[in-house]
Amino acid sequence: MDGTELYRKVILTVSGNKFVKWLSIKYGRKLAGRFIAGDTLDEALDEIERLNEKGILVTLDHLGEGITTLDEAAGYREEYLKLVEGIAKRGVKSNVSLKPTQMGMALDPEKAYENIKLVAKKAKEHRNFVRLDMEDSPYTQATIDMTLRLHQEGLTNVGTVMQAYLFRTEEDVKNLMHAGVNLRLVKGAYKEPGTIAFQQKREVIDNYKKLIKMHLDQGAYVAIASHDDHIIDWVKVFAEQSRIDKQEFEFQMLYGLRMNDQAALAQDGYRIRCYMPYGTMWYPYFTRRLAEKPANLMMVLKNMFK
Ligand SMILES: Cc1cc2nc3c(=O)[nH]c(=O)nc-3n(C[C@H](O)[C@H](O)[C@H](O)COP(=O)(O)OP(=O)(O)OC[C@H]3O[C@@H](n4cnc5c(N)ncnc54)[C@H](O)[C@@H]3O)c2cc1C
Repeated sequence: MDGTELYRKVILTVSGNKFVKWLSIKYGRKLAGRFIAGDTLDEALDEIERLNEKGILVTLDHLGEGITTLDEAAGYREEYLKLVEGIAKRGVKSNVSLKPTQMGMALDPEKAYENIKLVAKKAKEHRNFVRLDMEDSPYTQATIDMTLRLHQEGLTNVGTVMQAYLFRTEEDVKNLMHAGVNLRLVKGAYKEPGTIAFQQKREVIDNYKKLIKMHLDQGAYVAIASHDDHIIDWVKVFAEQSRIDKQEFEFQMLYGLRMNDQAALAQDGYRIRCYMPYGTMWYPYFTRRLAEKPANLMMVLKNMFK
């Protein structure tokens, strides 16, 4: 295991500690602010306008995961319906990202399906797109099944995410591409065991490139969600050498990270979409960001001691 992987595992483990969680929730909102567009939908929509002016597209996420009741799931469904309406009313360039567990997948998969279907239908009415984020491995198959089921019901405006660190992903990508599902490709953000996931950075990167290439070679639109210059530069060169138009894929990055570089990509004619979370349930999202990169933690600590 290299230093980065060790760091990632330590942060993900420490952040699960109840005391650390309590302390962070009590004092951390301001620190998390860099990664979150605001507490309310209106604040987020204002921020989308600002990014759109720079040529940056957005995917909007209402924070919330690990819910414990179906009432909470219904509440989030209503928030998402408002979010879809809000995007349409403001006329901003943003689609939607949501987490299946936020809609109840861990409690009652059928109910989650109904909740997500309502959001997808509303989005379809407004010609918008819904991305089902991919969570940890207990939900991989269920999320894929849900995506395919929505497609079978005509809701082809739904896509999902594939994680390059999972051994199974290459096969999943083949199946989903075959079904015409729009995919976001990522390295993977959760702590997964060596029995099901690559543990070495090099292996994840190699698999990531393979998955990207599978799309670009076949002219299948794909979202490449990474802050890694090695991946971004590789995609640029590969696309240019293969005469693939810049409109046939998009880069995605997270809100608060490399914002100047996001604007620069837009300036250079690439499609770039910023994943923008808002809402008050920011803790799990925030800790995954800290786990990704020691520099993110340093940035937050520096702000704390200012
Ligand atoms: C839009 C988006 C959506 C995502 N959705 C999901 C999802 O649904 N499910 C999931 O499991 N994961 C998701 N992720 C997270 C993803 O799986 C990775 O955990 C995360 O993106 C970190 O990997 P990376 O490729 O960005 O770069 P890393 O592996 O974190 O970093 C590699 C290199 O990139 C460069 N780099 C990274 N960050 C910066 C920075 N801030 N400034 C300058 N250089 C930097 C550095 O050179 C670094 O060494 C998503 C990520 C994005 C961007």
